[in-house]
Amino acid sequence: MARLVMKFGGTSVADLDRIANVARHVKREIDAGHEVAVVVSAMSGVTDQLVAWCEGALRTRKIFDAREYDAVVATGEEVTAGLLAITLQDMDINARSWQGWQLPVLTSNVHASARILDINGTELIRRFRETREVAVIAGFQGVHKETNRITTLGRGGSDTSVVAVAAAIRADRCDIYTDVDGVYTTDPRVVPRARRLDRVAFEEMLELASLGAKVMQVRSVELGMVRNVRIFVRSSFDRPEDIDPHGNPPGTLICDEAEIVEQQVVTGIAFSRDEAQISIREVQDKPGVAAAIFGPLAAANINVDMIVQNVSADGKTTDLTFTVPAADYQRALDVIVKARPAIGYARLDSATDVAKVSVIGIGMRSHAGVAAQAFSALAERAINIRAITTSEIKFSLLIDAAFTELAVRTLHSLYGLDKVTA
Ligand code: ADP
Ligand code: ASP
Ligand code: MG
Repeated sequence: MARLVMKFGGTSVADLDRIANVARHVKREIDAGHEVAVVVSAMSGVTDQLVAWCEGALRTRKIFDAREYDAVVATGEEVTAGLLAITLQDMDINARSWQGWQLPVLTSNVHASARILDINGTELIRRFRETREVAVIAGFQGVHKETNRITTLGRGGSDTSVVAVAAAIRADRCDIYTDVDGVYTTDPRVVPRARRLDRVAFEEMLELASLGAKVMQVRSVELGMVRNVRIFVRSSFDRPEDIDPHGNPPGTLICDEAEIVEQQVVTGIAFSRDEAQISIREVQDKPGVAAAIFGPLAAANINVDMIVQNVSADGKTTDLTFTVPAADYQRALDVIVKARPAIGYARLDSATDVAKVSVIGIGMRSHAGVAAQAFSALAERAINIRAITTSEIKFSLLIDAAFTELAVRTLHSLYGLDKVTA
């Protein structure tokens, strides 16, 4: 007997038939004798609709009260948790739903992107023991201890809920069921030749997720790494009846680097179109200029990512290019225009039709020249690189958005990641 936590994402609970399918997956594990907690997302599209309603409700103000936004968007998961509990009961399985405040899932009070601080798992464990009750937990939500207000964990946050629950009840397994059967070398919907990874190290998954692979929320990977929760990503679309509960189902294990025997140089490629580029032209090349630019951006809570500086031919002025998340683009421009007297520049150029393509692999620590190969491969395809950043286990390239797929495919083949077809 083992203790499991199973998470089902939006597409996996998109309608009543799929919820029934989820219930059969749960039944399979119960029949195998396991103790089970399930974490569910909202039915697919529901959270988007709830967010749109919050935005639509504003007639005069520009921003809404984040506490009320959370009160609205947290409801999507409550519906699914209740429906799955009803479905399980209908199959004669003892089950009950739990909302975040009921467990409770205690969080910080940063509404709309709260952090989980603590989950009390004792009651769940007692019920497993005494009545074999399945806990069906609404993902994505928690409660702030002092204010008692409902909080949510940021988009994709149910991934974090499940890892936190797994840590709280000391689960033997944390299975994330989604609409793909694992973590691939890149998004399989964009590159059909992408290959499923059997294992991926926490650190690499963290980079893949933060650089655009939406299969896992960044914080869930962070939490898995810190609390040492191994995460297994697998498909919810397999027929539960076809799965051997004691076998090795297809999927990807996110685990410690030490558990990976054959480490490739490059593990995967991530990309993001949610980037914007701002270039400040003819800035005086003198001490304090970078501070005058990036200080006000930091004060406005805008995350600056890539930074490139070119000195002009006469050595007196410089061009400074940087990227910000597309969502912060307009605000960033406003900040720079406002700071113009302090910075002193000739003009601003900007682009939102850019994409960031990133190559990730722990093996890069011990291999030189990995990025250089990418530069020539992209040059051969006439893809211009606008900016570059590198770190120990990854490098990122900013390119025109129109070339995203071509660049990802080119690099995917270059680093030998393509699926071998017979
Ligand atoms: P869920 O609703 O189950 O949380 P998501 O839509 O959030 O599922 O995440 C799964 C999606 O992530 C897949 O459908 C896939 O298109 C996308 N994805 C992006 N990069 C990858 C990758 N490297 N491996 C697997 N899936 C990826
Ligand atoms: N329903 C939330 C979202 O769509 C949380 C999740 O699915 O993980 O972002
Ligand atoms: Mg998700």
